[in-house]
Amino acid sequence: MDNLSFESISIDNADAFFKNDLKVDILRLDKISPIVSGNKWFKLRYHLERARSKGCNTLVTFGGAWSNHILATSSVCEAEGFTAVGIIRGEKPTLLSPTLTAAQERGMQLVFISRSDYADKFIPEEYDNSNTYIINDGGFGETGAKGAATILTYSDSSYTHICCAVGTGTMMAGIINACAINQQVIGIQVLKNHPELGSMIQSLVIDHGKKWNLVHDYHFGGYAKYNAALLAFMNEFYTQTHIPSDFVYTAKLFYAVKQLANTQFFPGKSKLLIIHSGGLQGNQSLPPGTLIF
Ligand SMILES: *Cc1c(COP(=O)(O)O)cnc(C)c1O
Repeated sequence: MDNLSFESISIDNADAFFKNDLKVDILRLDKISPIVSGNKWFKLRYHLERARSKGCNTLVTFGGAWSNHILATSSVCEAEGFTAVGIIRGEKPTLLSPTLTAAQERGMQLVFISRSDYADKFIPEEYDNSNTYIINDGGFGETGAKGAATILTYSDSSYTHICCAVGTGTMMAGIINACAINQQVIGIQVLKNHPELGSMIQSLVIDHGKKWNLVHDYHFGGYAKYNAALLAFMNEFYTQTHIPSDFVYTAKLFYAVKQLANTQFFPGKSKLLIIHSGGLQGNQSLPPGTLIF
């Protein structure tokens, strides 16, 4: 069973790395657990409540071979006594990824479906009944955003900007909903070619007076794509701050904030909070020795 340590969450100062007369703090949600790190528990918390109140004992969700969401779902289901089913995109490989192996070890049943069935959100018949509670691919939706909003209980309204990585946009929407009116939320998009993302986030935003913007230029070629510069940055960032990052989400976030800081995107004396949303387990898909941490 994974022990989640919410007491370990800290706010670490990183002014020295980001420079440019900015105050920069990093909210270390990665410290919750090496396995179920980051934002995923927050996104799942109210789903568990709803599943329970509907009398469902099985949670079904979707993801790829390296999905942080799949692994987190397997872990919380094990802890809370739900049966977990992971619908996985693509053919069953001869060797499971470490992520899927870990999910299976936590009792999740893995069901592999073709990419076209996956795109149609096909649910195998045996799981399509009133005992099952279904969570969207990547946990997108209002219930996830409501949970993500509680991330800001670890913060305060003194920050002028809150920066986070954006996949489905659920976490960002929650943060927009929870932030104060004087704060601005900056989301770094890790997917390429996702023109609907802004309107999807908008659909989850409750108070339309909040300030937020999506930055599209730091996806490094697309979801889970990377290059030598990003890997070098991760090692450099670790050397200077002792903070590990993951190449899918948080490395792109820290890289983007550093570039934006260098181009005076943030007015002088801004006070930034960067959300370290975890995801470190995904680095296992990199060739051994790539990272120094
Ligand atoms: C899932 C994930 C995100 C993105 O969250 P969304 O709510 O899908 O936008 C960001 N960072 C990490 C580490 C994640 O695992």
